Amino acid sequence: MVKSFPAKLEAMNADVKRVEALLERERSQLTDTESWRKRQEDEMKSEESRAIAAKQRSAAVKNAKEYMANERELQATRKSAQDREEEVLKLVGAVETAKTSITQHESDFLALKEHVLGEEKVAQKKIAELEAQIAEERKLREVAAKRVRPDVLKKYATIRMRRGLALVPVKNGTCQGCNMNIPPQVFNQLQRGDSIELCGNCNRIIYWDKLLENPDGSPSEASK
Ligand SMILES: [Zn+2]
Repeated sequence: MVKSFPAKLEAMNADVKRVEALLERERSQLTDTESWRKRQEDEMKSEESRAIAAKQRSAAVKNAKEYMANERELQATRKSAQDREEEVLKLVGAVETAKTSITQHESDFLALKEHVLGEEKVAQKKIAELEAQIAEERKLREVAAKRVRPDVLKKYATIRMRRGLALVPVKNGTCQGCNMNIPPQVFNQLQRGDSIELCGNCNRIIYWDKLLENPDGSPSEASK
């Protein structure tokens, strides 16, 4: 029980790391897209100035051949600059989309992290409670063990090791460990409750079930 909390939390922390890595990749892709856009913009600007230069040269051409060549270059540069502009617009859109997506994923990531932190706190509290409970039970057992005679405690430990359950109630004259009837004289002894009796069949320590019941008929703490 105590061990299963950290396992669950480990899985959750692995999820947090996975989402964080995805976010990191998204951010680095955005950086790449932005620098590509920057290069395309620079390229577009230089094409625009080449087009302006070609246009200026056309005023100084000496013959038709030169004019045609210059005109072809001007057209090609303009076309290229136009294509580049479309590409830049697309990239601007892509950058915007990526930014929106990153913002969304960042807030998802924060929510997930907060959730895991909350779960961690709950688990730590639960573990502390369980540990305190175990310590308390151990103390109670020590106190109880001290009140039992050493030879009986030893007998109890031996039976427990062999049979699992060492202390069983006798209900309606029947041992609840092996379902055999208890001889009447032993049962009488049990009802007095001032001695330690063993079941003649299974050798477990037996007690009369009614002895551990509260006056109102409900089982007492000790019988739990
Ligand atoms: Zn028995």
